[in-house]
Amino acid sequence: MYRFLITLLTVIMTGLLIPVQACAAPRLQDTGGKVIIVIDPGHGGKNQGTIENNHEEKQMTLTTALAMYEELSLYDNVEIYMTRTEDVDLSLKERAEFALSVDADFLFSIHYNASLNHELFGSEVWVPLEAPYNTYGYQFGHEFLSAMKEKGLFVRGIKTRLGEDGLDYYGIIRESVEREIPAVIMEHCHVDEPRDASFCDSEEKLREFGRADAEAVAKYFGLKSSVLNVDYSDYQLTEADAAFSRTKVDSTEPDLCLLDFLEADYENGTLSLAVSAADYDSPLLYYSCSTDGGKTYSAREGWPECDTLTGDYPDTFTLNLDIQPGTAPKVIVRAYNQYDLYTESNCYISPQVFPSQQEEASADQNPDSGDGESVEVVPVGADINVQNTGEDADRDVSFLVFLEICLVFAALLLVLVIVSQCIVRRNRKKKRLQRRKEAGDTRNQKR
Ligand SMILES: [Zn+2]
Repeated sequence: MYRFLITLLTVIMTGLLIPVQACAAPRLQDTGGKVIIVIDPGHGGKNQGTIENNHEEKQMTLTTALAMYEELSLYDNVEIYMTRTEDVDLSLKERAEFALSVDADFLFSIHYNASLNHELFGSEVWVPLEAPYNTYGYQFGHEFLSAMKEKGLFVRGIKTRLGEDGLDYYGIIRESVEREIPAVIMEHCHVDEPRDASFCDSEEKLREFGRADAEAVAKYFGLKSSVLNVDYSDYQLTEADAAFSRTKVDSTEPDLCLLDFLEADYENGTLSLAVSAADYDSPLLYYSCSTDGGKTYSAREGWPECDTLTGDYPDTFTLNLDIQPGTAPKVIVRAYNQYDLYTESNCYISPQVFPSQQEEASADQNPDSGDGESVEVVPVGADINVQNTGEDADRDVSFLVFLEICLVFAALLLVLVIVSQCIVRRNRKKKRLQRRKEAGDTRNQKR
């Protein structure tokens, strides 16, 4: 029932989603002949940036930016500048001012990321709010993140952030756009998360990022290189709707997150639940799971088969849990959207302990079962059949389903009553008119 409702809502709302469907399209930014690029290694001097995990972001960004500069220099008809080549302090305004002084077509700000609780992972790109810079950012961001995805990084998406004053939140974007220069912040990966850390743990890997960035820039501008023997002049970028004069920023949590019981194998200690969720403003990105009623949560996992570049994600997937013997799990799932806002599901309470008392006795003879809690996910398509267990294992959810069915019936009944009333009234009116006609009568005469 839940999944049906969510699928229905998703189909209705798909047309209203912000992410633009990926489709080959010509580049929207026209630079004429020569392309002037400014590479901005983020931070510098006293501003160290992220200093997690034995990394110093200001140094990492410089290494990547220098490799990007070298690689881009191999292309024809391009002029490249860097806001800094040494460890110096530079304000965001000074960086944008420098880009203006060289008449830059684009400023690319190089960064590495870290999160407060060390729980985020993946690459993202921040683009301006206003047209036409948002669409330029979107088309470039798609190339950059496609390269990151190819490396094996998780894609957190092409995003905009609104400041309190209604302008772009990030200073380098705001200052650049104020000077009519498109600018993006390229967050390559999270240095403090184990899944990302191995992508940036050597100088060579940081330089690899720079070369990948250069290739994304070359594709974006349609550059040619006789040295590298590549020609991107006919390269088609992703479609970005130029009609978006201002990008809508998602500031709300996902609209729905629900858990549905599928099956429990008490003998083997496995529990399968269907996780259904939807967000009508931005794609779902991560989920995390609690088996102790919300006291503790697992590390975040990528939403199975989500594609942040197209905005597609399955609205339902099967969550398979290995349950620790001797516990009766209380499962809650958090669904996170692209802006790291989450919605918590209903709580599924197991009606019995894993394994049940009978099996516990036999488990003593088979000690090879249960090696702690682990999470396995099987993504499924959007139109999964609703499985009703018929048991009272899922009592709270069943009651909700019952309520929903009642509501639907009540609504149908109401519609029937209204329609029948209309028909009855119309028939009465018809009969009255007919009677009058036949009798050649009027009301006044009758009275
Ligand atoms: Zn940074």
